[in-house]
Amino acid sequence: MSADAARAARDGGPAPWGVSGLDRMRTVAGSRWRRRAGRLLDLLFPTRCVSCGDFGALLCAECRCWLQPLGAEYCPRCGRPGAAVSKGGWCADCVDRDLHFVSARSAFLYTDVARRVIAALKYGGERGLAEIMAQEALPAFREVVAEVPSPVVTWVPSHASTRSARGFNQAQLFARALVAGSGRQLNAWELVRKTRATPRQQTLSREERSRNLARSFAPVRLPARGVPVSPWGAAEDVGGIVVVDDVYTTGATASEVAGVAAENWGVPVHVFTFARAMHQVSDLRD
Ligand SMILES: [Zn+2]
Ligand SMILES: [Zn+2]
Repeated sequence: MSADAARAARDGGPAPWGVSGLDRMRTVAGSRWRRRAGRLLDLLFPTRCVSCGDFGALLCAECRCWLQPLGAEYCPRCGRPGAAVSKGGWCADCVDRDLHFVSARSAFLYTDVARRVIAALKYGGERGLAEIMAQEALPAFREVVAEVPSPVVTWVPSHASTRSARGFNQAQLFARALVAGSGRQLNAWELVRKTRATPRQQTLSREERSRNLARSFAPVRLPARGVPVSPWGAAEDVGGIVVVDDVYTTGATASEVAGVAAENWGVPVHVFTFARAMHQVSDLRD
């Protein structure tokens, strides 16, 4: 089969003029087979809600309602919800911490539905959830980018080994879906890369997480300070960077990435995540 015919067969489009009758028959049969196979797969494996298991949608309308927004009260620095502020307006959880971002904000609490959604995206490979997460998180995201002049959106990178095993970086998918749905002309650039594979963080304390992550990130490029340069080479005036991730647990990862971005681009760095884990200061083994 010619390259064009193969492309047409793959895309399900009409066979291009000039292919042989046999190729055309193969192409038509191929696209019919694919449509039938698709319908069969839909019958055998219908779309189910990743949270409640109901048929019909990846995340059903009822489960979307169970996502818990953070509410109006949160620490202006680390985004801890409901936090009583202490000196400098910072909460007791972050007042003694050396965080490299100016502010962190999350759309939802890391409760049942948010947990299941993130797990299904990350470990279940349900990429379509990134767009659903973005739809739900857009109101909070718009508020964050509205406060940053000419923001550049980036994401917490994953190591190449994780990306090749998983096939994608969920933070990048979520960030790109947020930018696409924002209704604004936002730049989304890869600014930081992960240079070292690190053990999974789940069972580590805050200090262990920081040690685990130290020197694991590097800038993608080193433009002049204060003047980030886009991957296509044009200098831009950027007033701040928004680092996107799926979940904020202790803030160790977000802070490391923010530190690399702030040091290399000389602009304030903000963090935005879909969910925010709640934990006591003394109980960080989330
Ligand atoms: Zn559901
Ligand atoms: Zn705080």
